[in-house]
Order: sequence, then C-alpha cells, then structure tokens
Amino acid sequence: MCMTSIVIAGAGYGGVMAGRKFEKAMQPFTLINKHSYHQFITWLHEAAGGRHRIDDYKVELSEVFRQSIVTQIKDEVTFIDRQQRKVIGKKGEYPYDYAMIALGSAPEFFGIKGLAEYSLQLRSIETARQIRTHIEQQFTAYREDQDETHLRIVVGGAGLTGIEFVGELMDWLPDLCDRLGIPNNRFEVQNIEAAPAILPALSENLQTKAKKILEEKGVRIRTNTKITKVEADAVYLESGEVVHAKTIVWTGGVRANPVLKNSGFTCDGRGRAKVNAYLQSIDDERVFVIGDCASFESAGRPLPPTAQLATQMGDVAATNLLALSKGEQMVHFQPKILGTLASLGRDVGVGFIAGMQTSGTPAGIAKELSKVKYLWQLGGLRMVTRNRRSLVREY
Ligand SMILES: Cc1cc2nc3c(=O)[nH]c(=O)nc-3n(C[C@H](O)[C@H](O)[C@H](O)COP(=O)(O)OP(=O)(O)OC[C@H]3O[C@@H](n4cnc5c(N)ncnc54)[C@H](O)[C@@H]3O)c2cc1C
Repeated sequence: MCMTSIVIAGAGYGGVMAGRKFEKAMQPFTLINKHSYHQFITWLHEAAGGRHRIDDYKVELSEVFRQSIVTQIKDEVTFIDRQQRKVIGKKGEYPYDYAMIALGSAPEFFGIKGLAEYSLQLRSIETARQIRTHIEQQFTAYREDQDETHLRIVVGGAGLTGIEFVGELMDWLPDLCDRLGIPNNRFEVQNIEAAPAILPALSENLQTKAKKILEEKGVRIRTNTKITKVEADAVYLESGEVVHAKTIVWTGGVRANPVLKNSGFTCDGRGRAKVNAYLQSIDDERVFVIGDCASFESAGRPLPPTAQLATQMGDVAATNLLALSKGEQMVHFQPKILGTLASLGRDVGVGFIAGMQTSGTPAGIAKELSKVKYLWQLGGLRMVTRNRRSLVREY
C-alpha cells in the first residue's frame, strides 16, 4: 500500500467519486468538508419545492466511506497553501503530498444591484430549507393581510436549476394552498431569463416542449427579460416594469468557489482554476482541480458546471493522482455528455439520453431512474436500498 498523503477538499459530486476510487484502490485519504454529509444538490429543487423531507436529500459521509480508509474532517477550507503543501481550514491545517480541490461553486450575481442581499439561492440543504420555509411563511401571511405579493414568486434564471424549481413549485403550491385554505388560482410563479431561450443545454425543439409544458402548468416564462435591480420585495426589469414579489429566488449563474482565486491559482473569468488534460492545476502538478472549480477547455470553451462532469472528473483525477504518485502514465480526461434531463415537476420532464430526445412522462421516469444510477455509483446496492424509498418515485 502506498503511504502517499492525499487530501480531498470538498465532498460533493466530484470529491466523493474521487474518494470512491481511492477506497477501491485501498489508498487512505483525508476528506475535508464543511458538513459531515454529502448533499444531493441536483435534487434540491425537490427539497425546496416540498416533495420529500429535506433531510432525505443528504447522506452522512460515514455511510459512504469505510472508516479504515478515510480520515474525515469537518472544517471549512479557506486557503490552499501550495508552497507549504497544506490545505488550510478554519479549524486546522492539513498537509498533503497531493491535493484534490472539489469545493464546488458560489452564486454569480453579475453585478445586479440588490440581488445578493435580497434573493434566496438554491445551493444546499440549508438554503433549500430556507426557501421552503420562506414560501410557507409568505403563504401563511397572505391569510392575514390578503396582500397578493405574498403569493408571487419570481425565479431568476432558466437553466436546469431555475426550470426544475419552477416545475416543482407548480406541483407543490396547489397542495400548500389547499392546506392553508387559500384559493388555488391566486398564486403566481414567474421565471425571468435574460437570454432568448430556456434550458441552454437542450435543443430548440426540447426548449419549446419544456416551455409549453411549464406554461400549461401555469408558469409565466419571460425570456429576453433582464433584471436590473432587486429590492426586498421588488424586481426591476430593463423595460422599466417592476414586479412586486415577496419571494425572489436567484438561480441565474455560478462561479467557482472563491478559495481558488484567493489562493492564487490561475483562473478563468468565472474564478475556475485552469487545468491541463490530466486535470492538474496548470500552476502545480500536485494539485488536481475538479467539478465546478475546474476550467477544462473542450472545443475551445470551458465545460459547463454539471454534476455529470464533476463525477467523471473525480474518477479520472483520482486515477491520475494515483498514477502520478507511482510514477506511472496518466490518462487524458475525455468528457462524455451521456445525456441531460430536466424535470418539469413530479411526473414529467424533457431531455436526451444517448442522443435520443425524450419528453413528458418518459423523461420524468428517466429522471427518476437517473437517481438510482447515481445512488449506485455512490455506494452500490446498499446506497440504493437506503435511499430509494424516500427519494425515488414508485411506478
Ligand atoms: C437545484 C440544482 C439542480 C441541478 N441539476 C443538475 C442536473 O440535473 N444535472 C447536472 O449534471 N448538474 C446539475 N446541477 C449542477 C450540479 O449540482 C453541480 O455542477 C455539481 O454539484 C458540482 O459538483 P462539485 O463536486 O464540483 O461541487 P459540489 O457538488 O457543489 O460539492 C462541493 C462540496 O464542497 C463543500 N464545500 C464548499 N465550500 C467549502 C469549504 N470552503 N470548505 C469545505 N467544504 C466546502 C460543499 O459543502 C460540498 O460538499 C444542479 C444544481 C442545482 C443547484
């Protein structure tokens, strides 16, 4: 067994896949994460949108990894000291021979005034809980003063996160209204997007289908619409219109975790550390950077920040790190977009898998099955059995 000291910073999609690879190779490693758990971030729209219990969208890291292989540390990383080869956290310093940085992303506000202060963001178990509680409180407050702005929800951004969230809301809010005795036709959900189309990762045909499904559910989709300013209960548009709403959720963009830029890595315009074909930082061959933190160019453009690519990067970077530590040949990272699926509520979706387009109920079923696939990758049958009942719809 190799006694190389390896530190993974971040236990999201990239970090846990790298950890799984080390575990299979019987290579001990240290895993530093802000929380003691791994979050199912790609399903958080369900948590915020009232589908299941919020705590079902996480799994303790102690259930993911064998404790004889991993040294698990709950700490918040603040700096990567490449000179001293240490990951620095708020509670301690963690020396490494090789490091894997997988700290995910932070919201991108594009300099829009008031957006950071007054919007909610769907990024973690805690923010999902905050959004769900906030909406429930606003709907409850409506019963007191009949102020319609309590029932208006603005979601900025029409990428996967924003679209999946508005789809989920349209299935949850009628139930919430029934529970609180509010007439079902009173609430309003607006999705506001500066670009001309929703879901940029999908073809025009699928974008059109998604828009139609959401509009039939009652979402007001507003593309080509720029937000210029946000206040506590108002969204200002470039046209001069002001949308008054007491719930404003921003999903319009992400940039890499600021730790990379603050630690002096060479970054792209979104703060992602530039990596080579082996997923090593171009500044330091001993530091691998993966997932939303990495700027990997494919066909002249950085890859988009997705869980699908983060897991692939985690797997390849771990293979390369082990190869490098043994003086063996590393492999080039070759991204594979196997498919993209967007849920549009609990039962339906749109997307493509292996080049084939799908929409409606079949896409909704495919999206549910993709959860089983991820749980399998994370921890085989044990993880599927543990989570299937609470997270995956029965057909
Ligand atoms: C609602 C929603 C839906 C999405 N749907 C999809 C989808 O359908 N398909 C898809 O491919 N992608 C989707 N995405 C995007 C996807 O979730 C991200 O691209 C993916 O999580 C990136 O993986 P990562 O490993 O780079 O980072 P993350 O999974 O974000 O993991 C980062 C980890 O680092 C930890 N961390 C952060 N800062 C620190 C710190 N300073 N110190 C210690 N630990 C820290 C975090 O707690 C987390 O555990 C969605 C995102 C959202 C929000």
